[in-house]
Amino acid sequence: MTTVTIIGAGLGGLTLARVLHVHGIPSTVYEAEPSPTARTQGGMLDIHDHTGQPALRAAGLSDAFHGTVLEGRQAMRVLDGDGTVLLDEPDDGTGGRPEVQRGELRRILLDSLPAGTVRWGHKVSGVRALGEGRHEVIFADGATTEASLLVGADGAWSRVRSPLSDAVPEYIGRSYVETYLFDGDTRHPAAAKAVGGGSIFTLAPGKGIQAHREGGGTLHTYVALSEPREWFARVDFTDPAAATARIAREFEGWAPEITALITESDTAPVLRALHALPVEPRWERVAGVTLLGDAAHLSAPNGEGANLAMYDGAELGKAIAAHPDDAEAALTAYEQALFPRSAAAAADGTDLHELLFGDHAPHSLVSMLAGHAQPR
Ligand SMILES: Cc1cc2nc3c(=O)[nH]c(=O)nc-3n(C[C@H](O)[C@H](O)[C@H](O)COP(=O)(O)OP(=O)(O)OC[C@H]3O[C@@H](n4cnc5c(N)ncnc54)[C@H](O)[C@@H]3O)c2cc1C
Repeated sequence: MTTVTIIGAGLGGLTLARVLHVHGIPSTVYEAEPSPTARTQGGMLDIHDHTGQPALRAAGLSDAFHGTVLEGRQAMRVLDGDGTVLLDEPDDGTGGRPEVQRGELRRILLDSLPAGTVRWGHKVSGVRALGEGRHEVIFADGATTEASLLVGADGAWSRVRSPLSDAVPEYIGRSYVETYLFDGDTRHPAAAKAVGGGSIFTLAPGKGIQAHREGGGTLHTYVALSEPREWFARVDFTDPAAATARIAREFEGWAPEITALITESDTAPVLRALHALPVEPRWERVAGVTLLGDAAHLSAPNGEGANLAMYDGAELGKAIAAHPDDAEAALTAYEQALFPRSAAAAADGTDLHELLFGDHAPHSLVSMLAGHAQPR
């Protein structure tokens, strides 16, 4: 049996490696980062009952996953800028989207793989077709390896995408600025009270302040602004105080317990420019190579990207296991389901951004959620 060569040790690539391992199929994962702890994995992920959770079941990791769920974090509030609570949905345990820390999930996946599966510090710079489904993988230091079955799980700026597709991610016209308040309940009590037990969406047309309560009372915030790249280029993010003041200025007049999520940040604000691939990913079958997760279908953040990456990884792993002697049959079956699935999710993501930041925000989101929540 040939080894599957996976580029990228994100949640998608690791789920694929694990599902292959469950089926006795060896893989090697080449990851650009030098070690598992090189970068904080930050952020809460809600793991959905129709994508992330079945993927973890296929990986045989449901129990480990449930052990890391942070209770109560499915609670959600929608507020307007003056702090009026428009919708307050408690966590009654039936939300179907339990929350975990991304880093914990990645650790569970890493720990479930045979030692040496992940080769850290291997940044891929390109791939070259060798014929008959084989590819040469070229690393940034000039080293190479040959792959008989190559999977690009290397995220938004994939280096494995080029043999399959000319698509490049485009800026969606909106960015997030990320802040953290640590030990919120004691150090930032007003902001912690506003965030409550789970997450808040404080919205207005074109902008918003979204925050999550993470482990240890950390309040993790994405400040959304619908501005062109040039606007953000004029904000000096090398000067944290100046950048904080400039971003906060966009929310003048908003409730102080909400703007505190920007102005009281314990970390320097970090700009996250948002990009997406065309909504309908599609390519002709190319022997011996495929993509999963963001590499295949990067979309505007919609709470589904990591879930879908894991789902893709599990589906691809199962398809390879179901066709042990016919990689092309496996990749064909996987891609036939991948294309419509990811197109639908990307379209949902675009719709969600319209609900969050469109002309009728925040009431558009409240109306959408009101079907299964109690409006105030
Ligand atoms: C601000 C923000 C918030 C989000 N919030 C959520 C959320 O709440 N819920 C959710 O489900 N999704 C969320 N997402 C989306 C989610 O983060 C991604 O969809 C998900 O991480 C994709 O997983 P992946 O495995 O495909 O790629 P990634 O997680 O990007 O992993 C790719 C891996 O490949 C490695 N790599 C990259 N290039 C190379 C190279 N050249 N050579 C070798 N290795 C390489 C990277 O270092 C990385 O480890 C959010 C995204 C953003 C930007």
